[in-house]
Amino acid sequence: MRKRAERLSRLEKQIEQMIEMHPHSQNILTAFKTILLERKRLIEAGNCMSVEVSQIDTVRLQGGVPVSRQTLLLHPDEPWNEIALAMIPSIASGFPTLTEELKKIEDDVRGGDVHLKDYFTPFPDLDEEMVRNWTTTLNIRSEPLHLLLMSILRPVLEMKARDVVAQLGDFSWDKGYCPICGAFPDIAVIKDKITQRWLRCPRCRHAWHFNRVLCPYCEHEGKEEGTTYFFVEGKEQETAFICERCNRYLLTLNRVSDLGDPDFDVISMGLTHIDMIMQEKGYTPVVFTEWNDFRAQQ
Ligand SMILES: [Zn+2]
Ligand SMILES: [Zn+2]
Repeated sequence: MRKRAERLSRLEKQIEQMIEMHPHSQNILTAFKTILLERKRLIEAGNCMSVEVSQIDTVRLQGGVPVSRQTLLLHPDEPWNEIALAMIPSIASGFPTLTEELKKIEDDVRGGDVHLKDYFTPFPDLDEEMVRNWTTTLNIRSEPLHLLLMSILRPVLEMKARDVVAQLGDFSWDKGYCPICGAFPDIAVIKDKITQRWLRCPRCRHAWHFNRVLCPYCEHEGKEEGTTYFFVEGKEQETAFICERCNRYLLTLNRVSDLGDPDFDVISMGLTHIDMIMQEKGYTPVVFTEWNDFRAQQ
């Protein structure tokens, strides 16, 4: 219990430090803070079902077929409603303008609604048509529902990723998308000295090693020297890898010494000023997240 409280406060501390370092990220981090804390709490509680890994074929895995395409990652009997009901007040606290619509969703979930199970179980194929129908039935906008669904999906996938890694151990993987859930990364880290590039999944937060010069999205090979990185003058460690073929970018922490064990959502949210600049320049992120989409503001 004490350990959990310590980890939570560590997360709160990291959020405060990030806001201090990047004051422009204050709005995003303040809005997402309670969601991040609840996500952490859910993962610590670990109430999800274990993944059946016996069906996973390591040869197919090496060929680039992620775990989510080889075994049932999300089970119908996960505590979907319980997680939704825990997450709703956290979202409402950070996004008060969504409160009324979240209340409608909450009533629906409490009323024994089965949408959540139906939506998540076919993962990684999520049925957006179902979301549209659901918003029509409840007469709400799609934003609060989408934010809730992603806020449920992410902690559950993070639990699953940890479970899979604990069971499978190390395995080789050389794709630009996540070996567990199949999502493209939202951030890369290149450590000082060992110049390996590690990609981070925005959904399950799994980390994997990837070729340094290839674009994770289209696998285009930038010239070793010519690999383009954008950075703000004076902040050379916080960069964006740019692919001139597919016009995508990836936030990258370059040549950092040991980061410790930070929360990568906080780092990703702290660097959204780079997302804004890159999107203004006409680039698209390798993956859109709930916090890096600035298309509407342009
Ligand atoms: Zn993943
Ligand atoms: Zn590319």
